[in-house]
Amino acid sequence: MFWKKKSESIPSPSGERSAGGFSAPDETRPKGLFAKLRERLKATRESIAQKALNLFRLRGKIDNELLDELEEVLISADVGVASTTALIDELRDRIRMEKKANSTDQAWLTSTLRGLMREMLEQGERELKTASEGPSIYLVIGVNGVGKTTAIGKMAYRFKEQGKSVLLVAADTFRAAAIDQLKIWAERAEVPIVLGDEGADPSSVVFNAMSTAKAQNPDVVIIDTAGRLHTKVNLMQELAKMTRVISREFEGSPHENLLVLDASTGQNALSQARTFLESCGVTGLILTKLDGTARGGVVLSVHKELNLPVKFIGVGEGIEDLEPFDPD
Ligand code: GDP
Ligand code: MG
Repeated sequence: MFWKKKSESIPSPSGERSAGGFSAPDETRPKGLFAKLRERLKATRESIAQKALNLFRLRGKIDNELLDELEEVLISADVGVASTTALIDELRDRIRMEKKANSTDQAWLTSTLRGLMREMLEQGERELKTASEGPSIYLVIGVNGVGKTTAIGKMAYRFKEQGKSVLLVAADTFRAAAIDQLKIWAERAEVPIVLGDEGADPSSVVFNAMSTAKAQNPDVVIIDTAGRLHTKVNLMQELAKMTRVISREFEGSPHENLLVLDASTGQNALSQARTFLESCGVTGLILTKLDGTARGGVVLSVHKELNLPVKFIGVGEGIEDLEPFDPD
């Protein structure tokens, strides 16, 4: 059978294919947001779109070998086995239905693949849920080093720019440095912050913050948390306790439990996400460090395999390097 599946040809996620003589397109960058995003997402774009294009140039037609190699390209960009299989299967169906086997219609292939990816990314609510009255409260969770504190600093700046009042809460009391780090971000974004002492019970910090929120009535409250997975049970209990305190003080909150994942860890990010999903409700994702990684295909994996929307992407270390996720 010409279109028979060849799943045995799927390489390991680390089986990076060579770019095969590919040279980067000339990036004469106009200024502006779109240009910046394009530049920051360059590695991922090259690892998927350019390699796919290259494959087509090498083979010249849509055949079984091309699909097998496309499968490898997607896997090596950390799209994940399940999402890649789903994409390739669907692509095979479309090829059959639209009689594109052995076709040289590269534009069709590109736009069909793009359409399938977009469909995969369009599920779920990408807008942040907001409170109908009172502050919108967001709890930010994730393992150490993924970029929680940085993302919170950028979010604070973003909301502030939109004219909203923001209150930050430093509930990662494990290390004094973690508290100081959020304090620096609060200063940069020029927003108030509720601080706990090093070693304080995070829930007591959150409780104090809820009192401050009642007194100041900010539009948005963002809570930073600790993320040490080696005390997984404690961590999950701590998060559950904080959630109880928040919802007791403000009914229906937190409005989002945002899990931060480091895109450059590829499929590892997925297994982290599963741990959090099992233990506490996650309502959305923030995918960080998409700049400088070719593993951004993980965004497809998280949508398909976790069924969670990506709300924001982090594309650098600067205060403006956070963008709402847009599938296109
Ligand atoms: P946390 O432990 O989850 O709070 O992580 P941090 O916010 O402290 O971030 C860990 C490191 O990742 C810091 O050095 C950040 O500057 C860096 N980082 C965070 N987000 C991004 C991003 O989107 N791009 C890049 N390149 N670095 C990031
Ligand atoms: Mg932190």
